[in-house]
Amino acid sequence: MTPEERRRELDAIAAEVRACTRCRLHATRMNAVPGEGEPETEVVFVGEGPGFNEDRLGRPFVGRAGDLLVKLLAALGWRRSEVFITNVVKCRPPENRDPEPDEIAACLPYLRRQLEVLDPALVVTLGRHSLGRFMPGGRISQAHGTFAAADPETGARHALTYALYHPAAALRSSEVERQSYVDAAGIPAALVEARRRRAARAAETRSAPQAAPVGPAVADEPTLF
Ligand code: URA
Ligand code: SF4
Repeated sequence: MTPEERRRELDAIAAEVRACTRCRLHATRMNAVPGEGEPETEVVFVGEGPGFNEDRLGRPFVGRAGDLLVKLLAALGWRRSEVFITNVVKCRPPENRDPEPDEIAACLPYLRRQLEVLDPALVVTLGRHSLGRFMPGGRISQAHGTFAAADPETGARHALTYALYHPAAALRSSEVERQSYVDAAGIPAALVEARRRRAARAAETRSAPQAAPVGPAVADEPTLF
């Protein structure tokens, strides 16, 4: 897929999301929040669902949780515009309650299509609702700071997934915040490992080499795994 095709596909999905009435969350939203970022990125961050500020602005992670996410990225030398940021559900649950299973099920096809188009090497999950999609059965208390092959059902067919606590949880607990920085520091090594596996797979299937990705700069380095 060319960069133009990718951008066009992502824009088409976003337009569908903004008009979507597939679940009850459409009735109480101000704005749907499709997600945003660099179409050619290797890294996608997936949160739970929009909060108050996101619903107002129609953009993901623009409140206090977003400020913390930006700081976690900055600690890696990354900017939010270099990655793609989206959520499991695209409309705000009233009072920021957890999304219901039927709402998640209704919305998942959008995330799946986004991930099919983006084809990331690494999906960073933010919190347990996102973790539950990419590492089924994974528990955040054990999984944070670790990676595993992403469940291909999510649309991320050849990706590793790396678990972080939700930034909102880090805002409630200084210990979770501290741990979030420790966990985030492991993201570049997980990306290097994800690249290594994709390159090995590409060599096996003799597929054409991929175009150089655009996105956060992570030097290839000897992997620690
Ligand atoms: N929390 C989320 O999970 N997603 C957002 O977009 C903002 C806050
Ligand atoms: Fe549609 Fe998802 Fe919004 Fe529900 S949460 S209305 S499925 S975009």
